[in-house]
Amino acid sequence: RSEFAARVNRIQPSQSGAAAQRVRELQAQGRTILNLTQGEPDFDTPDNVVQAALAAMKRGETKYTNTDGTAVLKETIAKKFARENGLSYKVSQISVANGAKQILFNALAATLDHGDEVIIPAPYWVSYPEMVSFFGGVPKIVACPAARNFKLDPIDLERAITSRTRWLLLNSPSNPTGAVYTRRELEPIIDVLRRNPHVWLLSDDIYEHLVYDGLEYCTPAAIDQSVAERTLVVNGVSKAYCMTGWRIGYAAGPAKLISQMAKLQSQATANPSSISQAAAVEALNGPQEGLRERAEKYQRRRNLVLEGLASVPGLACDKPSGAFYVFPSCRDLIGKRTPDGTVLADDKDFCKYLLDAEGVAVVHGAAYGLSPHFRISYATADETLKEACVRIARACSRLS
Ligand code: PLP
Repeated sequence: RSEFAARVNRIQPSQSGAAAQRVRELQAQGRTILNLTQGEPDFDTPDNVVQAALAAMKRGETKYTNTDGTAVLKETIAKKFARENGLSYKVSQISVANGAKQILFNALAATLDHGDEVIIPAPYWVSYPEMVSFFGGVPKIVACPAARNFKLDPIDLERAITSRTRWLLLNSPSNPTGAVYTRRELEPIIDVLRRNPHVWLLSDDIYEHLVYDGLEYCTPAAIDQSVAERTLVVNGVSKAYCMTGWRIGYAAGPAKLISQMAKLQSQATANPSSISQAAAVEALNGPQEGLRERAEKYQRRRNLVLEGLASVPGLACDKPSGAFYVFPSCRDLIGKRTPDGTVLADDKDFCKYLLDAEGVAVVHGAAYGLSPHFRISYATADETLKEACVRIARACSRLS
């Protein structure tokens, strides 16, 4: 017998986490690394939010709270869904946890039995298939290539559904591609779900407020009432309000699912930090102009990266409309030789070459289920991005 449980032996550590860890190690050795691996805003948490946390501590809000969120935070979240998404939920349909990550974990834990299938469009966020496998579920990966703008073909979705399918997992805007589904693109997907009432929808909207070029965000739950009734809408304050360290994620969905998730959480972590919950109330109720200001900055940075990569031989990158990632193809560089004679066999080799030769850290596409690509996070300073593009271009031009 293995020393550890089968469920933990089934999963891998986060590969984007591993890339970030490698950067920290190289930095500790004294190397200057341009780090484009981080999946979090580089901006500080807004001051009104920090002040609200301080005030909560002074008021003595430092004790256990209701397991899956205080009443005031749940009411605030219900208002957010009504105001921003046109979705109407009772407080009994809202759940708050330690990040959207715990929400997803709870939802899958509460619903998957051995052999249950979850449809995951690729490229995907690294944690989805691992969580599904952890609970004994089967990730059914559906390829969404660059030629389809990394978006799910409803025909492929229909083909992937079996009697064991429990969930379709959608993530728009997407980590790692930045792809955003428009309402028109969602409609045929929702249509397939309407015809398959045993399939529930997990909609990860965590990058909702990071959309560009005047695009209007549409959450999949807003399209059809019957599908909305079996949708868990997942969101959080991490990316929108620069609060990754505060660990507040939330969801809205069927009350019966929410109560199972709360039961599980009560036996695991109990409530998320009382102080972070007070901060999240202020983030969602306070001034919202910062959202637009930050989105404008990200859009400018995205353009900067796209311009910087446009003429690099061997790279191809479409213009994504959301999140803070681009996901270029490096197909034309695979098989080429580096100056020291190493042949680049795949995107992992390419990313290693960028790091060794130029000190630019990015994450290989295979980590997200689509090769040969790599992910650049542009949630970092303009100067870093400009210099990184120069170095990437130099590294590519030295391949033969
Ligand atoms: N979903 C996606 C697609 C993400 O990229 C992340 C974070 O990187 C999360 C969920 C989790 O966010 P958090 O747990 O900070 O709310």
